[in-house]
Amino acid sequence: MKNEMSLEFDSLSENESFARIVAASFATQLNPNLEEIDDIKTVVSEAVTNCIIHGYQMGEGKIFMHCKIQDQEIHITIMDKGVGIEDVEQAMEPMFTTRPELERSGMGFAFMKTLMDKLEVYSLSGVGTTVKMKKKIGE
Ligand code: ATP
Ligand code: MG
Repeated sequence: MKNEMSLEFDSLSENESFARIVAASFATQLNPNLEEIDDIKTVVSEAVTNCIIHGYQMGEGKIFMHCKIQDQEIHITIMDKGVGIEDVEQAMEPMFTTRPELERSGMGFAFMKTLMDKLEVYSLSGVGTTVKMKKKIGE
């Protein structure tokens, strides 16, 4: 089975819970258990929060989310056209954050990596950031 959806929304913290509920409810077609639903909600929250706080630095912008179900897998892509990341490898290290003053712990990418089967981050300074994740549901 294949099924895709796309969503575009403003970079506002109110939309973090909106995006995570949309992704989780789209994923219900795969009959996920509660833990898998929680994992999807967590990773979408982390990625969207990163767009809002880091990508657009709490300013205006659009966030794009694309979800695809293919066989038993869910693919989630979250993208912003914000400031981008200078050193992606460093940014993905656990406990690395550029915003310690905001009480950020630098664990967002680490959670995404642990909770999903695959995480890819593409970013260009001044252009934006794309986070691609996938997870097999109902192993
Ligand atoms: P936490 O997620 O634990 O609150 P954090 O957001 O700093 O802290 P990560 O989510 O792992 O930690 O992100 C690490 C770093 O990568 C961030 O501090 C930021 O510098 C950079 N980053 C992540 N996402 C983006 C993005 N969408 N745009 C620009 N920079 C980003
Ligand atoms: Mg984060």
